Amino acid sequence: MQPILLTPGPLTTSERTRSAMLSDWGSWDGEFNRLTASVCGDLLAIAGGEGTHACVPLQGSGTFAVEAALGTFVPRNGKVLVPSNGAYADRIIRILEVLGREVRVIEHREDEPLDVSRVAAALSSDPAITHVALVHCETGTGVLNALDEVARTVANHGRTLVVDAMSSFAAVAIDVSITPIDVLIAASGKCLEGVPGMGFVIASKANLSAASGNSHSLALDLHDQWGYMQRTGQWRYTPPTHVVAALRSAIDQFVEEGGQPARGTRYRMQCGELVSGMRQLGFRTLLADDVQSPIIVTFLAPDHPAYSFPELYRRVRDSGFILYPGKLTRIETFRIGCIGAITVQDIARAVGAVGDALNAMGIRLGATS
Ligand SMILES: *Cc1c(COP(=O)(O)O)cnc(C)c1O
Repeated sequence: MQPILLTPGPLTTSERTRSAMLSDWGSWDGEFNRLTASVCGDLLAIAGGEGTHACVPLQGSGTFAVEAALGTFVPRNGKVLVPSNGAYADRIIRILEVLGREVRVIEHREDEPLDVSRVAAALSSDPAITHVALVHCETGTGVLNALDEVARTVANHGRTLVVDAMSSFAAVAIDVSITPIDVLIAASGKCLEGVPGMGFVIASKANLSAASGNSHSLALDLHDQWGYMQRTGQWRYTPPTHVVAALRSAIDQFVEEGGQPARGTRYRMQCGELVSGMRQLGFRTLLADDVQSPIIVTFLAPDHPAYSFPELYRRVRDSGFILYPGKLTRIETFRIGCIGAITVQDIARAVGAVGDALNAMGIRLGATS
């Protein structure tokens, strides 16, 4: 029996999504080009970007798309403001440093949401800032940041907003026709429940048209990928054909489920079941409930001499569930994802498996609230 992945990508996909990969496609063939066009059209519609924005897909994991977007849309003499409260914002900072783009960071604690007034103050005081890069759901902890407020602030200050919505797209409402977002980045293998291997960037056509020659990279130049795709209907360089086919099927299932509202509701139920079940067992969440996203939950390692994450992981894995290590440097934590083609019952069984593992390890904790 295949284990259930309680990880935020790769995640558990449906049988139907996996079956969609049982053919081969020629990258020059009209049938595959139509597949690409239909996927990109649907992604653009899900984001609310029809007419104003374009969807540019890119081979690789999500970070490739983040690096491509920063390199393509931030001119070489640009300056990017990065409000950071976790590992994925830190990755953006690292990418900008590698690319040689000027960065200004607003540091936050990892368990607190971004303070929009600090973003506004930085934009008012520093006219050199051209772009703001925001992580919507900080998957390192599970904090959901205030996308709408940040977007309005950035737009009011006349700057360009780049959003890493990797772990929120399709689960949390994002509509670029309502919220001013210039560049939105996500990927196949997260809340759309496809398989990993393809990122995509929903960018305003104005920003795309202006981005010629910015990129430091040939393969990661989204302006070039966009132009080539418009002219030929094809990807530059070998496309991840099976990933695109799986995403086509995953989007069909997303629509059948009821789109983002239904998916968000299911994830919130799964998250609620997880948090209440784990608290019953005596675990504490890192985050307060009001900043917790329905995507992934960080739990503090219990303060008990017999606790070890590798042992908990192994025992829970033997019961059929894959947990996720923590990503905080200062305190020991672990994470459990609430996303994927799973049910509330799967989460309840996973919590049961954690409880059985604790018993077997001789750990008894009192319920927390
Ligand atoms: C998953 C994720 C990424 C991309 O990570 P990869 O390992 O490259 O797929 C980027 N940002 C966020 C917020 C993510 O959750």
